[in-house]
Amino acid sequence: MPQCRLAVLAPLVVLACACGSGSAPPTESTRLPWALAIHGGAGVVRSEVTAEHERSARASLERVLDVGARMLDGGADSLDVVEAVVRELEDDPLFNAGRGAVFNASGESELDASIMDGRTRACGAVAAVRTVRNPVSLARRVMERTPHVLIAGTGADRLAAELGVETVDPGWFFTERRWQALERFRARARAQGGGTVGAVALDRRGNLAAATSTGGTTGKLPGRVGDSPIVGAGTWADNATCAVSGTGRGEEFIRHAVAHSIAVRIELGGASVERAAEDVVRGTLQPGDGGVIAIDRNGRIAMVFNTEGMYRGAADASGRSEVAVWE
Ligand code: ASP
Repeated sequence: MPQCRLAVLAPLVVLACACGSGSAPPTESTRLPWALAIHGGAGVVRSEVTAEHERSARASLERVLDVGARMLDGGADSLDVVEAVVRELEDDPLFNAGRGAVFNASGESELDASIMDGRTRACGAVAAVRTVRNPVSLARRVMERTPHVLIAGTGADRLAAELGVETVDPGWFFTERRWQALERFRARARAQGGGTVGAVALDRRGNLAAATSTGGTTGKLPGRVGDSPIVGAGTWADNATCAVSGTGRGEEFIRHAVAHSIAVRIELGGASVERAAEDVVRGTLQPGDGGVIAIDRNGRIAMVFNTEGMYRGAADASGRSEVAVWE
């Protein structure tokens, strides 16, 4: 175990914690807790969601939550889990990320994603990519294989090809539902987002990680970049505080450095993760702006939003496993 978190562990685990030994595999009694939260976007409006769509989205969230929970339960790294979970959601046309991404004003999909490792604050992000099937995996490659944090546009698409990250024809991102949304946007000139995906996880070694992926907002200007690939705005993870993934009006999340503001409230103000998330989502942001999922280093989960609903799910080592949409 790279770090021993004596101060934050349950007493039973503290007694059994073999600080610094790092060699023996953990037994059942020394295993640390794990926790996972996922979201599938906060821009969900009751009057626009059919019962059928809600059922499908809940089923997807349950399936993906289960994938991540099994990984964490088996001892996987939180970083691997948030990447795997977000990849699943990116491949699901129901959500506004990867396959189901929205269209910009030119009728193209431009995708943003980021990932952050709470152990080291290593982070990687991509913006406005057009041919990458799973932008979250390219973000991880940026983190691990380049000296940079954020790579955008054609440079990022080229990097994907060079690093062997799967690329697809832009037609892969065409879904009738998103095309209709663009048509409605063009008719009403009203921006729509929603369906961004994200995951935060605490693994059994006490490491936090976060990842977020999105198609952005329907009808956005070509080249527009939201909060999802901006570390500190839409994504944050550091082991000292929490892991956060946000969804909502990206410009507001950037303006208020939402994800990092939650971490700062924990670090400097001693707030709980629930209090910190509530303060920022209900105090700093305006109603309708969006929401966050967050996990602290003890595995406490906060899921807070100021929209009508947020597709979300939570699971932990105690057996908790739940998905929800509305308040
Ligand atoms: N935050 C995303 C963006 O502004 C959109 C969303 O989460 O709905 O790009």
